[in-house]
Amino acid sequence: MQGGLALRTLALFGSSAQQERWLTALADGSVLGSFALTEPDHGSDSVSLETVARRDGDAWVIRGAKKWIGNGASGGITFVWARVDDEAAEEHGAVRCFLVEQDAPGYTGTVIRGKASLRAIHQAHIVLDDVRVPLDAVLPGTKSFKDASTVLYATRSGVAWSALGHATACYEASLAYATQRVQFGKPLAKFQMVQERLTHMLEDLTAMQLYCRRMADLETAGDLRPTQASLAKFHNTRAARRIASTARDLLGGNGILLENGVMQHMADIEAIHTYEGTESVQALLLGRDITGMSAFA
Ligand SMILES: Cc1cc2nc3c(=O)[nH]c(=O)nc-3n(C[C@H](O)[C@H](O)[C@H](O)COP(=O)(O)OP(=O)(O)OC[C@H]3O[C@@H](n4cnc5c(N)ncnc54)[C@H](O)[C@@H]3O)c2cc1C
Repeated sequence: MQGGLALRTLALFGSSAQQERWLTALADGSVLGSFALTEPDHGSDSVSLETVARRDGDAWVIRGAKKWIGNGASGGITFVWARVDDEAAEEHGAVRCFLVEQDAPGYTGTVIRGKASLRAIHQAHIVLDDVRVPLDAVLPGTKSFKDASTVLYATRSGVAWSALGHATACYEASLAYATQRVQFGKPLAKFQMVQERLTHMLEDLTAMQLYCRRMADLETAGDLRPTQASLAKFHNTRAARRIASTARDLLGGNGILLENGVMQHMADIEAIHTYEGTESVQALLLGRDITGMSAFA
C-alpha cells in the first residue's frame, strides 16, 4: 500500500513540489499514504468511476465515495482518482489524481470492520463531501484512467510475490506437521498420499518461484509487460489458494487453529486474489492480449 501504490503514484506523477513535500515522509513511514480508486459501485469496472472534481475559483472541489482504501483513515494523505468535469475527455475520459490530506474538511474515512483477511492493515470507506483542495493538489502527470492502470500494473508483480510468501509459509507448516504428527503408528510424512500432496505443493511453489524470478529479471531490464505481471498474479494467487487449501487439510483439525500458521495465510490469500484485479479481470486482460479482442463488456 505504502510503497507500491501511494509512493509510486507520487513518484510517477507528482510535481516536484509535491515530491519535495511528501516523498521522504511516505518512504520513511512517518506519513501513511493511500490510493483511492475503487468505489462502492465500481470495483472491476473502476474505469467507470463517478467521483468528480470540478474547478471552483482557486480550488478543486471533489465529491464522491471510495471503498476498500488501505490506510484511508490513517490521518495521512490519500491519492484520490476522480473524473474532471471541465476538461475534454481523453481516451478513457479525463481522469486525474488529487493529493488530499485526510484532515481536509469534507473528507471522512471510516474503517471497514469485520474483515477476516489482511487484518494487519485497515481499509476504509471514504466519503468526499465537496472537499476543497488547492489547484496544485492535482498530480500533473495524471491525465487519464490509463495512469491509474500504470500504477496497478506495477504493483501486480508485488502481489505475485506476496502469494509466493503466503504459499511458502503454508508449505513449510505442512512439511513440519507431516514429519511430527503420528497416525497409524507412523509420521504422516511416511504415507504415500501425503508425500504426493507435498509433491503437488512443491510443484506449484516452484512454478511460483520461477514466475517471480523471471519477472524480477524482466523488471530489472525494464522489459516487464503489464500482461506478464497479470499472468504472474493470475498464476500465483491461484496456486497459493491450492497450496493453502491442501495445507489446511493436511493439518487436520489443527489446520483451522490460528496458532498453526495456515489459516491466517489462507484468509490473507483471499484478499490478494481479489485486489489489484480479480482472477477474471486478469483473464480478460490476458485474453485481450492473446486474441487482440476485448471481452470486458
Ligand atoms: C483487502 C482489500 C484491499 C483493497 N485495497 C484497495 C486500495 O487500497 N485502493 C483501491 O482503490 N482499491 C482497493 N481494493 C479494491 C479492489 O481492487 C477491488 O475489490 C477489486 O478490484 C474487485 O472489485 P469488487 O470487490 O468491487 O468486485 P466486483 O468488481 O464486484 O467483482 C465481483 C466478481 O465479479 C467478477 N467480475 C467482474 N466483472 C467481470 C467481468 N466483466 N467478467 C467476468 N467476471 C467479472 C469478479 O472477477 C469477481 O469475481 C481492495 C480490496 C480488498 C479486498
